[in-house]
Amino acid sequence: MTTSGRHFLQIPGPTNVPDRVLRAMSAPTIDHRGPDFSTLALRVLKALKAVFATEGPVVVYPASGTGAWEAALVNTLSPGDSVLCFETGHFATLWQRMAQGLGLRVDFVPGDWRHGADPAVVGERLAADTSHRIKAVCVVHNETSTGVTSRIADVRRAMDSAGHPALLLVDTISSLGSIDYRHDEWGVDVTVAGSQKGLMLPPGLSFNALSPKALEAHGSATLPKSFWDWKPVLEANEHGFFPYTPATNLLYGLDVALEMLREEGLPEVFARHARHAEATRAAVRAWGLEVLCADEREYSGSLTAVLMPPEHDADKVRKIILERFDMSLGTGLGRLAGRVFRIGHLGHLNDLTLAGTLSGVQMGLQSAGVPVDPAGVNAALDVLRGE
Ligand SMILES: *Cc1c(COP(=O)(O)O)cnc(C)c1O
Repeated sequence: MTTSGRHFLQIPGPTNVPDRVLRAMSAPTIDHRGPDFSTLALRVLKALKAVFATEGPVVVYPASGTGAWEAALVNTLSPGDSVLCFETGHFATLWQRMAQGLGLRVDFVPGDWRHGADPAVVGERLAADTSHRIKAVCVVHNETSTGVTSRIADVRRAMDSAGHPALLLVDTISSLGSIDYRHDEWGVDVTVAGSQKGLMLPPGLSFNALSPKALEAHGSATLPKSFWDWKPVLEANEHGFFPYTPATNLLYGLDVALEMLREEGLPEVFARHARHAEATRAAVRAWGLEVLCADEREYSGSLTAVLMPPEHDADKVRKIILERFDMSLGTGLGRLAGRVFRIGHLGHLNDLTLAGTLSGVQMGLQSAGVPVDPAGVNAALDVLRGE
């Protein structure tokens, strides 16, 4: 096992935390009821709006993304309400299970884990729901278990064409800050996000961006809520405070991570991710392997799930790569266990990080006896070199 040099953390989250962010987080913790904290919080809450592309409020929780899933549901819905969910993969499956556990009725549209939420099916289901029983449509923007990105703008158009008043709740935990996303323009009501993926922070913060319609729904939603209630957070946030002890040092990190995204420019950040994703797919194809995502309109910018030939175990390859080359890759989740491995290419990454990553994958596949064409890495380098 290699112990010199840096570990390659190429899972699709948590991602590599930039040194600048780590240094910012090492500053002494301050009084969260004092003036310096309020200056920091007001700055961060304002800067956050840009990554969600919203003018509205963003609620920050000291919680993993799963907490922000719950917050999105309990703040907008009531017991017995129906929600429309899509089986895009493991994370969509977990979110609908949570909705069921909270006492919601879930219409779960089955999927093959190789496609995103189908806007045409959204339109059909809503058009058929003439009594407006469905109160929310829940979509995972980037399904991290499959590397498939649902087309949220098209989902929105389908909802509008159906003339249906359901809320649109979107999980962007592995897309925010990596893949183009527009909360306001796409008419999303609650956007769910987390700190440890595109935002380049450690795990521990999660977010809800809110539309005016979501705030209105909050007024009549009766699912039990206390910690997750938006209202006391929004009130305290007015003055740069929180109704409880916030994760102060993670907010130091968020402040700097947002600055880094601003410095590079969001369009440039999205273009970088798209290029790295393209280079990765070029390698996969040249190896003679298959990308799990079956629709080129839905290729993910933040990760690529690679299908193994049937007689080979993806986790055996991952184990060899970890032991020989000190690199972590994403495992196959749920029904994809052993059948795929996932290459994370989101967050703090450059061309040579990706080239090193793909070199490690190629060597690991070869060591595991998987018949791959060594032209894979060169195919990726060609994409990276091209302008
Ligand atoms: C990582 C992830 C989650 C879960 O977030 P946690 O921080 O692990 O709670 C949910 N949805 C998606 C799309 C994710 O990528």
